[in-house]
Amino acid sequence: MVCECTTEPAGKVIGRRTGRDFHLQRCIVCGFLFVNDPCTDQGVSQAVAGSVVDGDDDSEKFVGEACESDGTVSHYEWRGVERVARHFFPNGGKWIDYGCGSGGLVGFAKAKGRFQVMGYDTGAPAERARGKGLPILCESELEQHAGTFDFATSLNVLERHPDPVSELFRIRSLLRPGGVLFFLTSNTAGAPNTLTEWPTLCPDIHVSYFNYVSIKIALARSRFEMEYPRWLPGLGDIVRYKVLRQLGIRKRSFFEKAIPIRPMARLLAKRRHWVDYTVAIAC
Ligand SMILES: [Zn+2]
Repeated sequence: MVCECTTEPAGKVIGRRTGRDFHLQRCIVCGFLFVNDPCTDQGVSQAVAGSVVDGDDDSEKFVGEACESDGTVSHYEWRGVERVARHFFPNGGKWIDYGCGSGGLVGFAKAKGRFQVMGYDTGAPAERARGKGLPILCESELEQHAGTFDFATSLNVLERHPDPVSELFRIRSLLRPGGVLFFLTSNTAGAPNTLTEWPTLCPDIHVSYFNYVSIKIALARSRFEMEYPRWLPGLGDIVRYKVLRQLGIRKRSFFEKAIPIRPMARLLAKRRHWVDYTVAIAC
């Protein structure tokens, strides 16, 4: 829930991964859309996320080793996000990737050497990444870093939580005042009238869906102020990653490099509502 106002049923949808029915509910004031009866078994939903081999969402961060190789198209997303980080902090700083999965972005940014980057997540992929020496914080280590980060990333993480405001509040507590959050999450503005036809909808693992109003309220409630940059350096790479994923391309190749996405990046992003809101400043 975002604004705690009255909600109404918004239809029933069958989860593509579990085959079970999920009931959607929508706030009549802010339009926040959520799954009323999500999978409650953490292990099951992570297994479902991990079993994905294609699709248009960003579940691959949970797949594990697959995304640690820079031979995957995830490289473009990581490169784009690192470029965004440099835009805000040209001289580097302290960066937390909140919900880092198996730590692909953390490893990429660490190798670039400009930021003191750390990740945070729970679950087996994060454990494995920690075991391999990546700086992934566990639950008990988070608190000692409270208020110290300049930059935070949350890539396709908010939609996985039934209480995204709590997650945002937690991220806010890690940032210093004036710190920057770069986030990617859904926008129901891109959904068709018949929600069940929306390819972004994945109720098995994604339970919270924002729009312009609800994300603004959620950010304000967690002491962030939303920024509206027209475009950012790095977003072109992020859009490229999303396009390639939708085309079912997972590995980088000569073929893939020949696809001219950059000239159309802004248009595609606007049409698909991929990067409508991405930046918030910690108040
Ligand atoms: Zn609401």
